[in-house]
Amino acid sequence: MERILIKETGRRSGEKVKLAGWVRSIRSHGKIIFFDLRDASGVAQIVFTPKDNEELYEKAKEVRPEWVVEIEGEVKERPEGMQNQGIETGNMEIKAFVLNVFSQAKTIPFPIDTDGYEINEKNRLEHRYVDIRRPRIKRNLEARHKAIKFMRDFLVNEGFIEVETPVLTKSTPEGARDFVVPSRNYSGKFYALPQSPQQYKQLLMVAGVEKYFQVARCFRDEDPRGDRQPEFTQMDIEVAFWEQKEILDLVERLHADLIKELFPGKKIMKSPFPVLTYKEAMEKYGTDRPDIRKDKNDADELAFCFVVDFPMFEYKEGDKRWGAMHNPFTRPQTEDIEEIKNNKESVLAHQYDLVLNGQEIAGGALRSYKPDILEAVFESLGYSKEEIKKQFGHLLQSFEYGVPPHGGIGFGLDRFLAVVLNEPSIREVIAFPKTGDNKDLMMDSPSDVSKEQLKELHLKIEKNEKE
Ligand code: ASP
Repeated sequence: MERILIKETGRRSGEKVKLAGWVRSIRSHGKIIFFDLRDASGVAQIVFTPKDNEELYEKAKEVRPEWVVEIEGEVKERPEGMQNQGIETGNMEIKAFVLNVFSQAKTIPFPIDTDGYEINEKNRLEHRYVDIRRPRIKRNLEARHKAIKFMRDFLVNEGFIEVETPVLTKSTPEGARDFVVPSRNYSGKFYALPQSPQQYKQLLMVAGVEKYFQVARCFRDEDPRGDRQPEFTQMDIEVAFWEQKEILDLVERLHADLIKELFPGKKIMKSPFPVLTYKEAMEKYGTDRPDIRKDKNDADELAFCFVVDFPMFEYKEGDKRWGAMHNPFTRPQTEDIEEIKNNKESVLAHQYDLVLNGQEIAGGALRSYKPDILEAVFESLGYSKEEIKKQFGHLLQSFEYGVPPHGGIGFGLDRFLAVVLNEPSIREVIAFPKTGDNKDLMMDSPSDVSKEQLKELHLKIEKNEKE
């Protein structure tokens, strides 16, 4: 007999079926044992009675919660009054005649039938594979899958193609520290993990791809602060020949359609999405991530807005130097090179953010595609001509072979999902997140590597934390 999913039992009254899954709970009523059996599709009630099969009944008595079992049995309508309208299979139960135990399970480290917020997070993350059995986390992963699928389908429908770009790459200046990967073959050299596919997607525009997207993993080695992860997922987009308005229009339609389709209980506060300039946002709300809701406690209201016309540069007090507000590839609104170099405080950029309920969920820009403008920006940021050549030579060189005007945007998928799923942290919408201090408690990472590995990589550890 072939195994079927539990959700199908509702339509199989009177049939013999084979099911498999985890024993969620066990109840014993006098001479009857009930299992709630859980698989990826749902929960079914399994019944064992000694009068039908003494041996099987004795076997069922040994089983404990979370054991993985296979059941063969007959699907029966539950007696009147014993039905559970709350679940899809609530009118049925399975009268077992075969029970196979695939594996036993220790007592799980915490309950999984609650929403789990009350449990120590360290404990949950250490045993994430158990924690994901919790209906809330499973629901979040399913919602994530559906949202990504929706975005993919939407963009494909608009003529975009998904292109993968390298994860082993070169340092990119996007404002954070890079994670670096030592090279075994080239002693003393390092790859860097991408902070975003920024330069690759621009190179794809030079390559004539025109409409690119990617569900891209981005890596930023930032000090733990707020609700961040050292790696996160971005829906990354780039288009050639579009104006800012066309990009914002695509972003708005994508979000509005997605909410309508997947989160119909949510209400978009205002459409078209309000557009504020950076200046207006700062003056009116004191932040470039304004929460424009009147009642901030209404969890089902989604207040999207665009913030545009950001300053091109910002002074980084900590580093005592000028930096790019978004990234150096952003196109300044002026083409006056002297102004770009000498008037940094007042140069505006073709940069835009999408803000949702006070959280920045997407950021993007039109890019400088004229080499002299891009070079002027780099110079304003303090790069010497030599450094520009060394770090960005490939991009500038590509622009000599026919570059279209282009621009794009990256959506922080984790943050968007946390908002629409009413989750307090992005860790709740990521299958295997790291802790707030960047550790993977389940895999125990970061961790030591062997002396041999270090030797092969031509590395010496000066001081180990433990010493
Ligand atoms: N690369 C940018 C970021 O990660 C997004 C973009 O400008 O498209 O913020």
